[in-house]
This record gives sequence, C-alpha cells and structure tokens, in this order.
Amino acid sequence: MSDRIEGGCLCGAVRFVVTGEPLNVAWCHCESCRRHSGAPVSVFMAVRRGEFEVGKGEITRYNSSPGRWRGFCARCGSTLTCEGNANSPEVHLHIGSIDGAARFVPTRHIFPEERLPWLHLADDSGDAN
Ligand SMILES: [Zn+2]
Ligand SMILES: [Zn+2]
Repeated sequence: MSDRIEGGCLCGAVRFVVTGEPLNVAWCHCESCRRHSGAPVSVFMAVRRGEFEVGKGEITRYNSSPGRWRGFCARCGSTLTCEGNANSPEVHLHIGSIDGAARFVPTRHIFPEERLPWLHLADDSGDAN
C-alpha cells in the first residue's frame, strides 16, 4: 500500500491528495467543530498547505468566524477541512475524509474545556494542546 495520503467526500465529487507527512493529528472538542460536523468530537490531521492538493471537484468553504473557514462538499455535505485564511501555513483535514484513517492516531486534545461531559474515549492520555 502506498503511503501517499488521499481522501475525499462521501459522494466522491471531491478528492484530494497530501504529498507530505502529516504535522499532527488531534481531537478537537470545540463547539464550532461540533456544529459543523454534527459529531460530538472531531479529529483533524494537520498538513502543510503547500502539500495539499484538491485533485477532483471543489471544496466549498463557509466562513464560520473571522479567519476560520470550514470546507465541505456542496453535493453530499461531507465535512472536509478547517483552515485559516489563504496565507495560513496549515490545512486541517477531517480524519473521516482520509482513506485508511486507521493509520493516523490522534495524540492530543484541543479545546478540552468545551468537551461534552459524557464523551469518554479509550485514550485520554493526550495533552491539552
Ligand atoms: Zn461529496
Ligand atoms: Zn474545533
């Protein structure tokens, strides 16, 4: 199996490729991620912007707060990205959009203070960013 990282949305309209190594993988417990994903917690893979390419289709972006853009597929609604403005160095990819996501283990927790109190995870050893 290639160690190239690829991913896309549920319907297949959007496909992307990561050409470098992930910077980190992290849980995000913030309420905005919860709203956008509909899930109690999100896991993101951070990659370098210059190593992220959309190869098929287009990511639609919603400006959820100043300097914060949330990307999704306009056809099927899959949550795909969370990023800053176009000059920010990183793009964060929803782990569920990655092919073979089992390879990428989250190692830290972001916004732990917004975490749902009933959410218990097998691995709570990560640091709070
Ligand atoms: Zn789609
Ligand atoms: Zn978040």
